[in-house]
Amino acid sequence: MGATRRTIIGAASALALSGCSRRRAIVVGAGVFGAWTAEHLQRDGWSVLLADQMGPGNARASSGGESRMTRGTYGRDEVYTRMALASLEEWKRLSDRASLPLFHKAGVLFFFEEMVDYARQSLEVHQRLNLPLEQIDRTGLAQRWPQIDFANVAFGLFEAEFGALMARRAVEETVARFVEQGGAYRVARADPGEDGSVSLDGERHTAEAIVWACGPWLPKVFPEVVGERIFVTRQEVAFIAPPDGDDRFEPAQLPGWADFNGGDLYYGFPNLEGRGFKIARDYHGAAFDPDTGDRRMSEAGAALLRAFAEKRFPALVGRPFTEFRVCQYENSSSGDFLIDRHPTVPGYYLLGAGSGHGFKHGPEVGRMMARLVSEGRLPEMRFLLASKGTLQRREVL
Ligand SMILES: Cc1cc2nc3c(=O)[nH]c(=O)nc-3n(C[C@H](O)[C@H](O)[C@H](O)COP(=O)(O)OP(=O)(O)OC[C@H]3O[C@@H](n4cnc5c(N)ncnc54)[C@H](O)[C@@H]3O)c2cc1C
Repeated sequence: MGATRRTIIGAASALALSGCSRRRAIVVGAGVFGAWTAEHLQRDGWSVLLADQMGPGNARASSGGESRMTRGTYGRDEVYTRMALASLEEWKRLSDRASLPLFHKAGVLFFFEEMVDYARQSLEVHQRLNLPLEQIDRTGLAQRWPQIDFANVAFGLFEAEFGALMARRAVEETVARFVEQGGAYRVARADPGEDGSVSLDGERHTAEAIVWACGPWLPKVFPEVVGERIFVTRQEVAFIAPPDGDDRFEPAQLPGWADFNGGDLYYGFPNLEGRGFKIARDYHGAAFDPDTGDRRMSEAGAALLRAFAEKRFPALVGRPFTEFRVCQYENSSSGDFLIDRHPTVPGYYLLGAGSGHGFKHGPEVGRMMARLVSEGRLPEMRFLLASKGTLQRREVL
């Protein structure tokens, strides 16, 4: 086990940290944020070592799920619409070179029981950015997606250009490309050293920049700095087998969807690559420890998701579950990400707080962190540590 954990993967890895002319960076965490930070630092000419305690998109990581939605619809939060758009281009380029698809352009459909600020603002932002967002009334919705029961729905917003990312595969591919292009990747547990160094499986390393992209572990690694500013919560996901031979649940016929009705937000995906129809509730569950948390689905959670799926998608009545997953969100107080310098240790950078919507933005988040590390360019205030409160008041949806 010890030997495996110390294995260094990648032809250029031995050289990567010994090159004396290039600036050296270490990125801790090969989730979507760390992997894309490593990629962008490498593009900027840094010699980069990416280290992860378990591996890209591992079972406990937040990036370790099957699929993640990508969308431009973000209400008034135009910054995320722009980031999603820019990231999508990177994802598509990466998907084109991958042997299996990373992106399924299934489209994304949000539906509402009445016109609300979120929908109105999304329409305004899309219009301003010249980005297609189709508003469809209930009759139109029922004609296009007869497999959905649109009871209590007034209208929907449909984005045809977005869809689903194959999450774990996409992170693995990001890391694979980084290594192919000369980056070093290592399986190792990292701990902060007292002198601004980093210990990798007990071995001391130094670098000009050390980016801590530890996802839900970040509060454990830096308890004094973010222990009370990132809230790790339990999230349950279920997959249901569509009826045999019924292709209305395939991505060509069913988009990713989110239902904004009745105060509760449910969302899901079509039957991507035969994994089953995915359904989850987007709320903040109980506090959760990524190392010791019980990842078995609760009976109450399964019943809730089944009831909702059967109500909105009547053909799923009685269909078997194919899979459950328990993952975790790592929420900031507002839902905005954390992209900043460590407040007291020079050369340390903090990256995280994906807050249940970070995956799609991986490429842009990585680029923003690389700008900070390479050029000292701070991102806007909402991403800085100073903006992170100690009370959960989610604003970004
Ligand atoms: C159920 C669920 C549904 C979601 N749905 C969506 C969605 O539809 N769309 C979307 O955009 N986003 C979604 N998200 C959010 C998104 O998945 C996360 O924001 C994103 O994956 C966070 O990535 P990360 O790199 O910050 O963290 P992680 O993926 O957790 O990566 C952190 C990595 O750091 C490593 N690490 C931690 N500590 C150490 C250490 N000391 N030494 C070495 N390695 C260490 C870990 O092993 C891990 O691999 C969802 C999240 C969940 C849980």
